[in-house]
Amino acid sequence: MPMPEINISALKNPVSSLWGVGVERAMQLARLEIFTIEDLLLHRPKRYEDRRHFRKISELTKDEAFTARGKIVALGLKRFRGGNKSVFEIILDDGSARLHCRWWNLPFMENYFAMGDEIFVFGKLKEIKPRTMDHPETEVIEGGEESFIHINHIAPVYPLTEGLPQRWLRGLIWRALGKFEAEITEPKPAPDLKLLPSRPNAVRMIHFPEEITDVEIARRRLALDEFVKLQVQIQSRRKNFEARTKALSCGGDNRLMKPFLARLGFKLTAAQTNVLREIRADMGGAHPMRRLLQGDVGSGKTAVAACSALMALESGFNVTLMAPTEILAEQHFRNFQKWFEPLGIKVELQTGSRKIVQSPKFKVQSLFIGTHALIESGFTIENLGLVIIDEQHKFGVAQREQLVRKGIYPHLLVMTATPIPRTLGLTLYGDLDISVIDELPGGRGEIKTFVRATDKLAKVLDFIREKLSGGRQAYVVYPRVEDSGMKELKAVAVEFENLKKLLAPSRVGLLHGRLKPAEKENVMADFRANKISVLLSTSLIEVGVDVPNATVMLVENAEAFGLAQLHQLRGRIGRGAHESFCILISDAKNTEARGRLKILEETNDGFKIAEADLKLRGPGELLGQQQSGLPKFRFGNLAEDLDLIRQARDLAAGFLTGEMGRRG
Ligand code: ADP
Ligand code: MG
Repeated sequence: MPMPEINISALKNPVSSLWGVGVERAMQLARLEIFTIEDLLLHRPKRYEDRRHFRKISELTKDEAFTARGKIVALGLKRFRGGNKSVFEIILDDGSARLHCRWWNLPFMENYFAMGDEIFVFGKLKEIKPRTMDHPETEVIEGGEESFIHINHIAPVYPLTEGLPQRWLRGLIWRALGKFEAEITEPKPAPDLKLLPSRPNAVRMIHFPEEITDVEIARRRLALDEFVKLQVQIQSRRKNFEARTKALSCGGDNRLMKPFLARLGFKLTAAQTNVLREIRADMGGAHPMRRLLQGDVGSGKTAVAACSALMALESGFNVTLMAPTEILAEQHFRNFQKWFEPLGIKVELQTGSRKIVQSPKFKVQSLFIGTHALIESGFTIENLGLVIIDEQHKFGVAQREQLVRKGIYPHLLVMTATPIPRTLGLTLYGDLDISVIDELPGGRGEIKTFVRATDKLAKVLDFIREKLSGGRQAYVVYPRVEDSGMKELKAVAVEFENLKKLLAPSRVGLLHGRLKPAEKENVMADFRANKISVLLSTSLIEVGVDVPNATVMLVENAEAFGLAQLHQLRGRIGRGAHESFCILISDAKNTEARGRLKILEETNDGFKIAEADLKLRGPGELLGQQQSGLPKFRFGNLAEDLDLIRQARDLAAGFLTGEMGRRG
């Protein structure tokens, strides 16, 4: 009789079940997030050393790190400053030259080396005469059974934690592979093994590649598995959602839309119209809409939101619009009041400082605008047909879900101006359909961007004065994070006094996160009404603010911001017919940061900028701190692996369709 299939793989056993892993080692491994044998087998080397070829010590340079190999011919620990400071030094000889290796204030390093030891050393020279490296990575060469995995091969070099020797970990992984390779199975769905290595093979290759090119082949296979797993999760969540929900019929009948569009003052762009067609199909369809609307800053997402809201309102439902800041909520409130009240639609505002008092039992349909206070208040909106979330990237995925759960599966439209690279879109928002507004309304002035060194600030201010005297307005963004302490608040106050003097007689206003909501609102109102010409602000104005007469954006210490964030800031200008100027002030000495900022000089295309930012800073930074929904990948690279993510999506889709078929 065949044995019943036992699904608990040996790979799930704790690492401590391996021979040689005691309590202390298990604790060290836990610090590396290695708990099970599987974790161990998926511990990714941080680099590889080709120990079939070395550099002679005489050929080492200051520019690039290399591996050399030599014998310890001298070593010693020197203490100074009454024993508080120390340097431990060894001198290596490989026959070509001598190399000094130093470790500062790590006296225990002494315990790891002995005269006559053969060691590998990896690093670049700090000094040439004598040849010296500070804090290089080292590994003592020992004989013994497994010595072949450490020498004469491409050796994996792993991330470590204190007390865990490289050599020991390499040996452990080698032995674990030998024992458990057969337990590594293909996931479901598995990719086409005619084109890719099998999973067990890939795991072996990522640790012990025969050629350096094997590493990338293996990484891609393992990355694909990660993406497939995530896509299966995302797509089955979506499928389940669709199976258990029924859509509210919110397609509308144009009765409000027609007069709205007639009085709007501009014609929708082709891109806006296309997106609205997609939205109407969703809102009149069988499943609740789950749609992400991407459009670069200034592409006119608000008008699309308004039209979508009207569809639901025409169909007899209420609508909410949630914005990430009070300033933005206020701005939307003003616009929508102006647009909707003539149509007989009530517009309500709820923020931290402003509550809706009346009981929300409405006879006529309403639009509720608010910040996250809308979700936190415990306030329920009856008969909710559509939820719109503006500047989605400022909200976490959890918050998004919270809002939607309030009603009986209303339609959901989330909007973002952070152009999300395709890789992230498919990963993070894989459960949403995506629409893109890929065209800006016409009649906009051009935006010119310049990166300037701090010593050019005086000239830049002359330029700003000239624009101000021509009747335009300007933003000056001060590089302090919101939520910063009193010290920084003082710094902003000093900056404010400075700027007032420098730009007199033009009036300057100040906006930062510590102001009371009413104060913020007053400053914004004055700026909007051109009663103040310059707004000094923290990055608070990053999102959504729309004042077309403002044509200059000056950002100080621009290198403190990410590219996507600077692009958002720049999106505050270029909203009217006048030519606009974005000036990024950055320390001239920091050439790397200047290079990064040059990307903004070169392009206005938000997608290109987001992709560059993703490559430079990684997804967490690009999306902002609050974006918690991003999974961690060991092997997948969101900046590079678009082809794999697409492949994973298709594999998962095929697989789930097959499953559904089987279930009947
Ligand atoms: P964002 O997509 O950044 O939220 P907004 O919705 O704030 O952009 O729109 C930016 C500006 O463009 C607003 O002043 C808006 O009234 C205007 N606008 C939107 N759509 C059009 C259009 N089709 N033609 C002309 N101006 C438009
Ligand atoms: Mg907007």
